Amino acid sequence: MSIQVIPLSEGVFTIGHDKIFHPFNQDSDVLTERPQGSLLVEIQPFLLIVDGVNILFDTGLGFTLPNGQLQIHHNLANHGISPNAIDKVFLSHLHKDHAGGICYDTEQGVRSFSFPNAIYYVNQKEFEYAMQKGQPSYVIEDFELLKNSSQVEWLNEKGSIQGSILYEQTGGHCPYHSVFLLEHKQESYFFGGDVVPQYKQLIMRYVAKYDYDGKESMLLRERYALEGKSGHWHFLFYHDVKQPVVQL
Ligand SMILES: [Zn+2]
Repeated sequence: MSIQVIPLSEGVFTIGHDKIFHPFNQDSDVLTERPQGSLLVEIQPFLLIVDGVNILFDTGLGFTLPNGQLQIHHNLANHGISPNAIDKVFLSHLHKDHAGGICYDTEQGVRSFSFPNAIYYVNQKEFEYAMQKGQPSYVIEDFELLKNSSQVEWLNEKGSIQGSILYEQTGGHCPYHSVFLLEHKQESYFFGGDVVPQYKQLIMRYVAKYDYDGKESMLLRERYALEGKSGHWHFLFYHDVKQPVVQL
C-alpha cells in the first residue's frame, strides 16, 4: 500500500508587521492593496496515511468555523477522518500558525487536545523557548497542555521514530525549529515547516526577513534541495498558495 497525502488547506492569508493572519479572498481582494511588506501565505497542515496510520504535520491556525467546529476537524471530516483516528502529530515549531490546532475548547469549555488519541512529537527546547517567549509569535494557550502530558514524545536534536520518520533540529526560522523525513518503501516525504515553506524558496537563493537566522535557513534549503533531488523526495509546503506537494 502506498502513501496517501492530503493537504488540509485552511485558506490564504496575509500577514504583516502586526503578525496577525488576515483571511485573503483571492476572488475579491486585490493583491496590491494588502499592507506593504505583508506576505501572502497558504495555511496548510498535511495528513499522511501510511498503511492505515494517520499522521499529521502541524496543526493549522486553530480557528473555529461559525458552527463552532475547529477548522482542522472540519477539514479532516471532509476526508472521512475523525480527530480520534489521528495517531501521530508532528510539529515543526510552535508559532501560532502551526500550533493553533494542538488544543481546542470543547463544547463544555474544557481545554483539551484536538487529537485525543495521538502522540504529539515536539522539540523539547522549542517548547521551553515558546513558553518563555509568548506573544506575538507564540500563543501559550495553544500548547501549554503539552507540559507533563503522557501524550507527548519530546524530540531533541536528531533521531528517528520507529525507523521510518527521521527528524532533525534545524534552527533557521526559529532557534529550535525541526524538519521531518518520512520514508516508506521506495518513497520519501519531506516536511520542512517554515525552513522550506514554499516551492519558490527552494529553487531560489533567498534570505527571508521573518527568519530568526535567514542565512542559515537559506543554506539549509540549498542542502535539502540537493538531497531531495537525488532522493526523489516529495516536498510538502505548508505556506505555498499554489503547489502543496512538489518533486524536484
Ligand atoms: Zn508559518
